[in-house]
Formats: sequence, C-alpha cells, structure tokens
Amino acid sequence: MSHYTQWYASPGGQPRLLLVDDHQLNVRVMYEMFRHEFDVFIALNGEQALEKCYELHPDLILLDVVMPRMDGYEVCRRLKADPELADIPVIFITSHFDEADEVHGFELGAVDFIHKPVNPIITKARVKTQLQLKQQADLLRRISQVDGLTGIANRRRFDQQLELDWRNCCRAQEPLSLMMLDIDYFKQYNDEFGHLAGDECLRQVASTMQQAIGRPYDLLARFGGEEFAVLLPRTDLTGAQYLAQNMLQKITQLAIPHPLTPGGIVTLSAGLSSTVPQEQHQPRQLLQQADQLLYKAKQQGRAQLQASLWTGV
Ligand SMILES: [Mg+2]
Repeated sequence: MSHYTQWYASPGGQPRLLLVDDHQLNVRVMYEMFRHEFDVFIALNGEQALEKCYELHPDLILLDVVMPRMDGYEVCRRLKADPELADIPVIFITSHFDEADEVHGFELGAVDFIHKPVNPIITKARVKTQLQLKQQADLLRRISQVDGLTGIANRRRFDQQLELDWRNCCRAQEPLSLMMLDIDYFKQYNDEFGHLAGDECLRQVASTMQQAIGRPYDLLARFGGEEFAVLLPRTDLTGAQYLAQNMLQKITQLAIPHPLTPGGIVTLSAGLSSTVPQEQHQPRQLLQQADQLLYKAKQQGRAQLQASLWTGV
C-alpha cells in the first residue's frame, strides 16, 4: 500500500491544523500547543478561515464560535455546503457549556466541542483522535479512487475531477484540455502473450505516462480496459498537444515488443480536445469530442494524435 500513503499526507508530511479565533491571545496559546507536531495555520475571522480552507485544505479546524460579522456556525455551514471542503472536520471552541448550542453545532456537522479556557491535555487528545479518523477516512477515499492494477486514478476519480476542473475553469474562464488514449491492437497483444503479460503492459504504459505528467493538478486515469484519460486544467490546446506528443513518444521509446503491429512495438492512439468551459455546456461534451478524435486517430492508421479545439458547436 506504499503508493497510497503519499496521497493523504500533506506536502509537508504533517497534518495541517487551522486555528480560527478572533482573539490573538487564544490563537497564540493554541499555536504553542500544536506547533511542534503539526503544520499550524491561523485565521482571525470567518472570512479568513474560509479563504485558508480553499487555499490549504486543512485536515482539521479548531473554530471559535463567537466572532464578529461571520460567526463559527456560519463558517461551518458554508464549509459543509461546499463538496470541496465538506470533509474537513470541525471542532468548535466555546466559552461555556450550553447544551442547545452544542446540539446546534453537531447538527451543522461539527465533530466535537472544546471549552475555554482550553485544557492542553484534553484539547491535544481530542485533536489527535479527530486527525486519526480523518487520515483513515482519507485513506479509504483514496483507495476507492485508485485503479487496482495500475495504481493510477480510476474512472470514478476521473469523473469527479472532470466535474471539478470543469467548474473551476468555467469560473476562472481558463482553458481545460482532455485527452483520451488507447493502446493499439491491445486485444491482439493479449491473444498473443496472455492476460498476465497484458496486465504488465498496462502497468508499464500507465507508469510511463504518469512520469510524463509534470504538474500535481494534472490527472491521469484508467478509463477502462486499455483506455486512459488525462485531464489538464489551465492548459490550452498547444500546451496539451506538446504533452500528448511527448507521451506517445515515451511509449514508443519503451519499445514493448508487439509482433502484430506495423512497427513491431506497442503504440498509443490519442484524441485531444481543448476548450474554455462555458456554463451552457456539459463536461460530457468535451469528453465525447476527445473520444471522437481518438476514433479518428484509429481510423487514420493509429500510433498518432488527433487534436482539436472544441467551441461547443
Ligand atoms: Mg471569539
């Protein structure tokens, strides 16, 4: 499971904790409590807290209830309403125990309450418990999104990410490119060498393509069978074409023997479609066009890329 573990740890390797309180002194006390064990971030009001959540995706939030303008409850409500942030656990910090308040907080989706003045031992224990639960949940989520054979993202993850990238690129009016790739004559490869060799071929192709992808927000997924898909947010047609050609070339350089292809080695065909997403369109349409271009690459002799802008007509 070694390749899963890197997915749920933050880039710094430590869990990320976000402290939200409008009183500097409270923040300082808790910062001292946790700074040795975690990557600790601070927000002094509700708006800042939401900004930090989008920016940092913390693993846990300690959230003061009483704050001017936007209180902790409202912050929590907004977090839980956004699918991108809803899985971040929230522990409320309150100045006194009030059963009705706590019920309200749990109904909003909080996982725990801590009372001021914060007791360091109780607070640390509760924070650790919640972080362990978060890591387990993250791990399960990752596993359910990974293709068992190749270790890259599976179709489910791809579908989710396509929706997300589409929405984000639509909001920012930035280009989104989508690539569909298919191993040429793969059925014949399996027939010739058997399914275990076929599995090994899929693994090699997947890992070589993964290496060709440079940025952490680009996504390579196994779409099904011998078909792969790549999502490239903030990438225009020219940039995506460059990457696609590079991928095809790297697979050719692998020189996996395949006696039933014209060149005697395993090759890829690819369809690439690029657009600046518009609200009146659906991500599915971009996928369909990339798929049609892949079909065209197959029709025109395989081992090639067919690429086009998609403008929605
Ligand atoms: Mg306060």
